[in-house]
Amino acid sequence: MEAQQLTTLTGVIDKKMNRQLKQYMDICARCAICKDACHQYVGTGDFTYLPARRAELIRQIYKKYFDKAGRFVPALYEARDPDENLLDELYESTYACTGCRRCMYYCPFSIDTAWILSVAKAILIAAGRGNEMLGQLADAAIFKGDNAAMFEGVMLSGFEDISEEVRAITGNPEHQVHVNKEGADILYVALAGAHSIRPAAVIFEEAGESWTISMFEAANYGYFYGDAEKARLITKRYIDEAKRLGVKEIVVPECGHAYRVAEIFYEAWSGEPMPFKVSHILEKVDEYIKAGRITVDRDKIDGTVTYHDPCQIGRNGGVFDAPRDIVRAVTSRFVELTPNREQQWCCGGGGGIVAMEEFKDVRLKSGGKKVEQLKASGASVLACPCENCRLQIEELNEVHGLGLEVWQVIDLVVAAMPFKATPEADAATM
Ligand code: SF4
Ligand code: SF4
Repeated sequence: MEAQQLTTLTGVIDKKMNRQLKQYMDICARCAICKDACHQYVGTGDFTYLPARRAELIRQIYKKYFDKAGRFVPALYEARDPDENLLDELYESTYACTGCRRCMYYCPFSIDTAWILSVAKAILIAAGRGNEMLGQLADAAIFKGDNAAMFEGVMLSGFEDISEEVRAITGNPEHQVHVNKEGADILYVALAGAHSIRPAAVIFEEAGESWTISMFEAANYGYFYGDAEKARLITKRYIDEAKRLGVKEIVVPECGHAYRVAEIFYEAWSGEPMPFKVSHILEKVDEYIKAGRITVDRDKIDGTVTYHDPCQIGRNGGVFDAPRDIVRAVTSRFVELTPNREQQWCCGGGGGIVAMEEFKDVRLKSGGKKVEQLKASGASVLACPCENCRLQIEELNEVHGLGLEVWQVIDLVVAAMPFKATPEADAATM
């Protein structure tokens, strides 16, 4: 590796390694308890995906440049240069990680491997080895932010079409998708696609909510790519819109990482406190049901329903009860997956992996535990409030012939509302 590139790379490590991360570098006991927690290692048996091994690669570079003993006697202290072989291994183990943090939950020292791998992504990007697809998707979102007017016409016409669908479902000619409505209480930051907007619009309108959407979606490929500046710029698009419109609250859709980005990461990336209350859409829907602002019927949905806790919403976001309360409100035939809540198995589709074709094989193998859980539940309907999880589970459903219906939770809610027309669940689309 050239001297200049090495300086950039060690500079990245120096900048990213705070006290907590340095402690993670020191305290791993190599007990390998984390191997049984990681769906990718369990599904593939491949050492590359063992959580402690992934972190070990960063530890080796760290020791080589920032640890006295490692600097002087590298062979003895497992210190290593970031040569091409190491970078190849780092790329494979880092971009495959779904960031589920199940390894952290079971690690006796709570070592946050996903956080360590955020340093790995920064190193790979500095070395020109970031994932191309995720980088391109992030750049496309930033381009859209800089050239919003170019997209406006087509988006407004799409929103008008969705408004018509909403009126067809509710039968109320006043109902609509509000776009860029100044002074609304809520900015709903949807995902790209009618499937994320239509059921939310039905619920907001029926609840009499003061709400609006804007031109910008919640998905953040800068976060998956591992570039904090790109991720900040993508998030800033809707934060700026929320400020301009004067809303009080930002509501994020059924998307795992979007919730953590708005609730946790934006402040760290931008250095400004999040100026709005952030809620997950299911927290709002739960509130509406409990307050009697929308009505649902427990007998309209056929089959036994189970619920998948997406890692970013559940284990990493702490939202466990609101979705369950909603599912219990719309069906009397609810069964839990086992294990669940903090111990839920990752489905294998997080961290942007569904967008990276090169990881398809490991992704499908790593869904094995989820397939076992779904089969054991005996459920015929899965409620799943995360786009990436739905895409992955839809594919597992097909490959393993599970015969499941995979629904967004908000689609289940609309299906349980007392309308004549019952909407079908949409196939998840990005
Ligand atoms: S469980 Fe924790 S301490 Fe044990 S090997 Fe894994 S990361 Fe290291
Ligand atoms: S965060 Fe999840 S995918 Fe990544 S190493 Fe840990 S258990 Fe495996």
